Amino acid sequence: QRKKWVVGNWKMHGRLADNEALLRALASGAGACSGIRVGVCVPTPYLAQVEAALSGTPFAWGVQDVSAYTHGAYTGEVAAEMTLEFGATLAIVGHSERRAYHGEHSELVAAKAQRALQAGLTPIVCVGETLEERESGATQAVVGAQIDALLAKLSVDETARVVIAYEPVWAIGTGRTATTDQAQEVHAFLRARLLGKHAVLASVPLLYGGSVKPENAAALFSQADIDGGLIGGASLKSQDFLAICAAA
Ligand code: 13P
Repeated sequence: QRKKWVVGNWKMHGRLADNEALLRALASGAGACSGIRVGVCVPTPYLAQVEAALSGTPFAWGVQDVSAYTHGAYTGEVAAEMTLEFGATLAIVGHSERRAYHGEHSELVAAKAQRALQAGLTPIVCVGETLEERESGATQAVVGAQIDALLAKLSVDETARVVIAYEPVWAIGTGRTATTDQAQEVHAFLRARLLGKHAVLASVPLLYGGSVKPENAAALFSQADIDGGLIGGASLKSQDFLAICAAA
């Protein structure tokens, strides 16, 4: 039985004062998180603040991207080891917003995931199709190619330590959630792809992301191959985020 995961992705939101209120509310509402893995991925400048606020709570924390390089002349990049100095354990890689706005392709995403693993972070690798791709019947081809690039780069042992998030691009920040059937269908496809590589990959958590809210979380998380959620907008409201944790 795989544990459920709920991870917040703050994206490029937050200010010290607002974060403080949110983090305080999360820490005091941590009772909603018993028995699950829970975390928040925050803008890098706030890692120290998050470490101070969430140390000793059930919440893990991390970043929304990480460099594929260890160190060196890579202006603007953040190395995995730098995040470790602030207690980070998680790193989202390959979010569709990075793929779309920063030209990240699946080979780079796989390299970032591998670098994160080498540093001891758990990468949360995002995959997902656009609306156009779904409507043209290309969903499985697109997410299949995204997952295959990861499987081509990582060993089985490495792959067993990643988390994968299926985030249909058309469901992100749109209020339009995938139906439970639509989400489960893709998750089952991803599970089969992992199992095609090795049976131990049955343990890889597969999270759903895209307009998860307190109202739809329980139904999504009850699907056979949905092991929790990656939460954008609702992770900025402590009540909503904790309600989603309670639903997991
Ligand atoms: P929303 O929950 O705001 O749709 O964002 C989902 C997401 O992209 C999480 O990474």
